[in-house]
Amino acid sequence: MSVKTRFAPSPTGSLHLGGARTAIFNWLFARHHGGEFVLRIEDTDQVRSTEESLNEIYDSMKWLGLDWDGTPIKQSERLELYNEYANKMLESGKAYKCYVTPEQLADKRKEAQDKGEFFQYKREWADENSGPDKPYSIRILTPDTGEIEVHDILRGKISFDAGEIDDFIILRMDGFATYNFAVVIDDALMELTHIIRGDDHLINTPKQQLIYDALGFNLPEFAHVSMIHGADKTKLSKRHGATSVGAYRDDGYLPEAMINYLTRLGWSFGDEEIFSKDELVEKFTLDNVGKSPAVFNPEKLQWLNAHYIKEKPAKEIAELILPLMNGKGYKAEDDDKLLKIIEQLRERSKTLNDFVSQSSYFYNDVNEYEEKARNKFLTEDTRPVLQALSGKLSSVENFTYDNIQKALEEVVEELDLKFGKIAQPMRVALTGGTVSPGIGEVIEILGKEVVISRIQKAIDSI
Ligand code: GLU
Repeated sequence: MSVKTRFAPSPTGSLHLGGARTAIFNWLFARHHGGEFVLRIEDTDQVRSTEESLNEIYDSMKWLGLDWDGTPIKQSERLELYNEYANKMLESGKAYKCYVTPEQLADKRKEAQDKGEFFQYKREWADENSGPDKPYSIRILTPDTGEIEVHDILRGKISFDAGEIDDFIILRMDGFATYNFAVVIDDALMELTHIIRGDDHLINTPKQQLIYDALGFNLPEFAHVSMIHGADKTKLSKRHGATSVGAYRDDGYLPEAMINYLTRLGWSFGDEEIFSKDELVEKFTLDNVGKSPAVFNPEKLQWLNAHYIKEKPAKEIAELILPLMNGKGYKAEDDDKLLKIIEQLRERSKTLNDFVSQSSYFYNDVNEYEEKARNKFLTEDTRPVLQALSGKLSSVENFTYDNIQKALEEVVEELDLKFGKIAQPMRVALTGGTVSPGIGEVIEILGKEVVISRIQKAIDSI
């Protein structure tokens, strides 16, 4: 049997980390088995579904590199199909018409609550308001006693008391299928073999199995994956900070770090932490997916991101950061200068955005100095140092790193100072602050003309 999985997002918001991990697990499982991975858009909630969310979900999936097979299916285009199957169930006596209005049900629910009773729909109410042309919903006829067994790949057998599941609606009065009904029709007709989803859906599974049985469909296999929690052990939500994939992309994270991190969140392979996407496809099975909730750790994600930044060829980083730099008005180009800057900054960058924030002085004039740095390093005492440096560097013909370094050493010798004593004033003059890559590298990248003029500007500011 060839494996077929799906990701079934509702386009009512952006793709969040939990949804992304569900998508990744389905994608990895399908790719590991050489099977198919499809997308189904659950957009029957006309009010909350938006085109904007849908596009954001597609963008996030593409950014993560989760390619899907075929054209995504949209539930909003399959309403007739759900109607057809609901009517089949009516015809076979597996479902019945219920004329109780939603308002009446709300009243009955309130009445039960006021009495402190547990509310359950009762079959005998079905015919209230019945009559030709009266609107009705369609409800599935469920067993009143017995057990419904769900076999979950991760959790084994889970029993549900059939008596607690009332005759739930499969087709509402407005003609729209309910979530549980549409999901089963689609999962069955799309011939999915494995349903991998969050364990918040576990309570839906017995209901869905009743629909499979009523329609004579084969059951797929189920795997309900634990939720992602924040450090406080509650379900990950906006309270815990950025939770959408798009937010991490915008903060300068790499898709390879996200995939690696989210997969490891809930899946393990010994003590290994770092996996390329190809390795994950090769190694991923449901056997190593954990049963308890995983705790989201933003520092670990950042650590992985820094790892992938260190590994990534400079050319590829250049492509990613150029638009970010130019978005900030840097006038950067895809050239040797940019590649050199990347090599200098990669050890100090945890995100792509760090490259941008740390390279401003390579592209923009230094118009102010950090106050503390200026007070300490741009003084009457350092004026002669800066003057000596300016003179020496002006005389360097061929402005290569080695020649620059030689010139700096000559100044050290001539003034009889420690290297740090000339490097810091120089750094403040060239970058505006006291933190940068090696001063020789900074001088080389900036070039002679800029260096001389910035030193002069610093001297003038004393
Ligand atoms: N659309 C559902 C959701 O976003 C998923 C349904 C399912 O996986 O069965 O939670």
